[in-house]
Amino acid sequence: MKQALCHISSNAEVMPGIHLMWIEAPDIAAAGRPGQFITVRCGDFPLRRPFSIHQVGKDNVIAGSDATGTKQPQVAILFKVTGKGTLWLSQREAGERIDIIGPLGRGFTIPPRSKNLLLVAGGIGLAPLVFLMQQALSQHQITLIHGASTAVQLYSNSSQLSTISYQRVQFIPVTEDGSAGQKGRATDILPDFLDRADQVYACGPVGMYKAMTEMSSRAKRSKLKLKKCQVSLEVRMGCGFGACYGCTIDTKKGLRQVCRDGPVFELDDIIWQEVSL
Ligand SMILES: Cc1cc2nc3c(=O)[nH]c(=O)nc-3n(C[C@H](O)[C@H](O)[C@H](O)COP(=O)(O)OP(=O)(O)OC[C@H]3O[C@@H](n4cnc5c(N)ncnc54)[C@H](O)[C@@H]3O)c2cc1C
Repeated sequence: MKQALCHISSNAEVMPGIHLMWIEAPDIAAAGRPGQFITVRCGDFPLRRPFSIHQVGKDNVIAGSDATGTKQPQVAILFKVTGKGTLWLSQREAGERIDIIGPLGRGFTIPPRSKNLLLVAGGIGLAPLVFLMQQALSQHQITLIHGASTAVQLYSNSSQLSTISYQRVQFIPVTEDGSAGQKGRATDILPDFLDRADQVYACGPVGMYKAMTEMSSRAKRSKLKLKKCQVSLEVRMGCGFGACYGCTIDTKKGLRQVCRDGPVFELDDIIWQEVSL
């Protein structure tokens, strides 16, 4: 874990209300693993805001917007403007510096024998899954279900977003208004893809996780077997590194701190009634 004052290489609104920011942070880029996060000091707000590492790279800034001109290893965050902190962050420009801490938390793990990975993203929950995809792509078959409210909120529709080659990724869009892909939610079509998956990874709103948990508990009778599933939790956080216990949740294995023991947990370990996201 490192604290650093880092240059912003680029910051652009890549989908309505969603920003992609590349930050020169060589140490975090080298040490960060999929599912881990950074915290950013947003202006004068005392609490840092947590964001998943979305990608790491060297030259992956938005074309024409690299003000620093350097080729330092970078980390990207993909964030939705939801309040004062993220609004402040969205207004930062290339060349400015921001105070970040990372990498933090425990990320996703890929079991050695798994070949087919099924990634399920609800909205901005896509953010950490792209880094997982980036790392796993060379040795795994990947299916990514991305559920969004409408077509313009779909990752694949934003050409500037990623330099990741999608050739080996089966991308399945789902939109609530039916403007792209199947109409509905990611969890509606999830059962169709479970048979082939060795491991499931998910990030999204609590409703999505609850739907998945119900699916999993029905498994014996319906023969629908939800495979081992790792989920990333975005609970409200205080310090981000285990000092304040503000993000403690109850799991079947006892109390856990999301910032230090997570944010990635096994879906079946979480006692969902106790979690408020
Ligand atoms: C491990 C982790 C990873 C995350 N990754 C991403 C990401 O990649 N992209 C993204 O858009 N968002 C992500 N979030 C959510 C993001 O941290 C919040 O949206 C952000 O903190 C909101 O700040 P705000 O000041 O704009 O909102 P406000 O509502 O004004 O924030 C007030 C306080 O609540 C906290 N807070 C509010 N909403 C959330 C939330 N959903 N989760 C956690 N804390 C919250 C803030 O940190 C702040 O302390 C992540 C959260 C966690 C815990």
